[in-house]
Amino acid sequence: MIEKQHIIDRFISYVTVDTESDPTSENTPSTAKQWDLANKLADELKQIGMQEVTIDENAYIMATLPSNVGYEVPVIGFVSHFDTSPDFTGANVKPQIIENYNGKDIILNKEKDIVLSPDYFEDLLLYKGKTLITTDGTTLLGADDKAGITEIVSAMEYLINHPEIKHGKIRIGFTPDEEIGRGAHKFDVKKFGADWAYTMDGSQIGELEYENFNAAGAVVTVKGKIVHPGYAKGKMINSMYIATDYINSLPRLETPEHTEDREGFFHLYTIKGSVDETKLQYIIRDHDKIHFEARKEMMQKLADELNEQFEMEVVTVEIKDQYFNMREKIEPVMHIVKIAKKAMEQAGIQSIIKPIRGGTDGSQLSFMGLPCPNIFAGGHNFHGRYEYVPVESMQKATEVIVNIAKLVALPETSFKEEE
Ligand SMILES: [Zn+2]
Repeated sequence: MIEKQHIIDRFISYVTVDTESDPTSENTPSTAKQWDLANKLADELKQIGMQEVTIDENAYIMATLPSNVGYEVPVIGFVSHFDTSPDFTGANVKPQIIENYNGKDIILNKEKDIVLSPDYFEDLLLYKGKTLITTDGTTLLGADDKAGITEIVSAMEYLINHPEIKHGKIRIGFTPDEEIGRGAHKFDVKKFGADWAYTMDGSQIGELEYENFNAAGAVVTVKGKIVHPGYAKGKMINSMYIATDYINSLPRLETPEHTEDREGFFHLYTIKGSVDETKLQYIIRDHDKIHFEARKEMMQKLADELNEQFEMEVVTVEIKDQYFNMREKIEPVMHIVKIAKKAMEQAGIQSIIKPIRGGTDGSQLSFMGLPCPNIFAGGHNFHGRYEYVPVESMQKATEVIVNIAKLVALPETSFKEEE
């Protein structure tokens, strides 16, 4: 349907603009360079014929494709982010195109001996015979999430060029700063005005997600007592030993490296210690709300026990919720997942429904009143030099968007929960 070269050209025009976000900045967008692509996108949307194209003071872009049917159809939305991860540089991206991939090692960079190999990244073998876009080994690619933007813009352009395809009103939204967890923060859900939306921000072709972690961060502070080591008997309290006890009291196998699927964890990611004070930083993750609450309680209880043992407050725990599992917001409107699944079937794609072991902007948007499952954008190995995207996956994602638009506008599509 959508011409391959057209997708490639559009994608490359986006990834060659550096839009790395910065978690240390308080501004939105967190980096001024994100404006470069934001302005370009707003222009392009006007140029392909989108209506009500707006770009606000924080670089959030919204646009409308008006309905072309004479009856009431729910307003749907599609959302992506244009920033790239600060984990790896996104400056001077030099995409390479591998046509008719042969299933063997891909030399990303001969000089630096950087190889993208199916021995290590087995997913590559799914794409034998396809056209892959890779990096030159020195930057990330930015398919996360410029593939999503490519697909949304291409689908809107296709619908504009094919007025015979019936659809309701469609809103699209492009955000800055998703990679630093702030993509949804300043998203004006009311102005967007959709009944529901989809983020095009998943990975492998077929992915469809409406469950993510409940997430919290915890800082454990242990206070010691510093005394001259030569005269410390019965006086010194070494905070590092108490911190070690604390660490070892949490279930050792409930960590990221020992868990998968719907198993939650405690993740200790920083220790900073001296005799006088030790700080531990954790993240807590669990799909199940009850287990999530229990994990937070356990962290507090361990502190209470140590304080009792020392008969003073040596350990304090500060826990902050970060985001929640969108499942509870999606389940009452399950038809929006079924429509996406059906749209994939129509494109010949087997949907892969699985819980996300992380968060998405869609989870935040769902709690802000815009139910928002996540659909594949097609890329793999995000946030690093081995990132790649098969062009055919971007074509299919574009087709899925068009199919969703069609399905929602079918008079016989029921928007009530059947079961
Ligand atoms: Zn993303």
